[in-house]
Amino acid sequence: MPDSLPGSCACAVMTAFNQPLAVQSFAMPRDLAPGELIVRVELAGICGTDVHLHKGQLAIPLPLILGHETTAFVAAMGASDTKDWLGRPLSVGDRVSFTVGRTCKECRYCRVYRLPSRCLKRQAYGVNTPCAQPPHLLGGYGQYHFLHADTAVFKLPDDLPSEALVGAGCALVTAVHGFERMRMSWGESVLIQGSGPVGLAALAVAKESGGRPIIVIGGPRERLERCRRFGADLTIDIDEVPDPQQRLRMVREATDGLGADVVVECVGMPVAVAEGWDLCRDGGKYLVLGHYGDAGPIALNPHVITRKELTVYGSWGSEPQHWVAAIELLRTRRERYPFHELITHRYPLAGVNEALAAVASWQTGKAVIVPNG
Ligand SMILES: [Zn+2]
Ligand SMILES: [Zn+2]
Repeated sequence: MPDSLPGSCACAVMTAFNQPLAVQSFAMPRDLAPGELIVRVELAGICGTDVHLHKGQLAIPLPLILGHETTAFVAAMGASDTKDWLGRPLSVGDRVSFTVGRTCKECRYCRVYRLPSRCLKRQAYGVNTPCAQPPHLLGGYGQYHFLHADTAVFKLPDDLPSEALVGAGCALVTAVHGFERMRMSWGESVLIQGSGPVGLAALAVAKESGGRPIIVIGGPRERLERCRRFGADLTIDIDEVPDPQQRLRMVREATDGLGADVVVECVGMPVAVAEGWDLCRDGGKYLVLGHYGDAGPIALNPHVITRKELTVYGSWGSEPQHWVAAIELLRTRRERYPFHELITHRYPLAGVNEALAAVASWQTGKAVIVPNG
């Protein structure tokens, strides 16, 4: 272990659902194997999913260090010739981000179905990697983060601010993955349900994929204004147009009377799915992006799928290639999609509970923890 690393570091630990996180001290991992890294956390984004995890809406092991949207600086390397996922040499001090999911590369989903996001042994930092045993530092809400040798690490380009990457958060890679699965065609009309972080990310990806027109249904007004700045052609405020039938009429009016070619669910409320099927044109595609947490069942009419010949897509998490695309999008289109502007609140590690509460009650744009600030 290099002398420059402290012997211990502080992390915010979730020991029970719905209880305050506790800042605890952990021993710094020693004797790194080749490929392993210790990184010093710069920014740890607070994702809406963290709020759901804190409420116990996914079966995850505890105690856990939350945080899956992280930028950091390489602080220690198990071998001096370690490279990032794209084969670029890494050095101590490099600014990096990383894919939180790690896969076994051996199960049938990894090997045969080429669906690593559904790997039977998938581990995700900050989601299902408990911190009780060494190397402990397995989530973003801490001063340092340990990275296993098989982590997809990305050296960040100098002209990409960390705020852009964390501002876009896991929503952007989620959207990139979803659109890849759906194989949207250039020139298709896109309706996005929801104007939160996932909706905004889907909007940017739809725009870059040649979608037109792009319509967003959501609220409140400020979020819809941002959607228009990001390139939405039409926004429909659910507060101003509370009647689903009227929303349907407006969407059809904007799509030659037929409904959208592509509808992307980014709301996280099950009831939106039934409306979304109505908003699709016959033969259209419906992508469910907003239900990482289990928000429960609703009654849906399968007749709609048959009659309209709909195709429904799901998409879970992201894979390293989606990070490559997202990083390049953010680097080259920063003016077009100013995701860095989404960050409204910064908290020290000791303010983590205040931060989670603020995110849970919609008081923030994007909130980040600055654990070494
Ligand atoms: Zn997330
Ligand atoms: Zn696997």
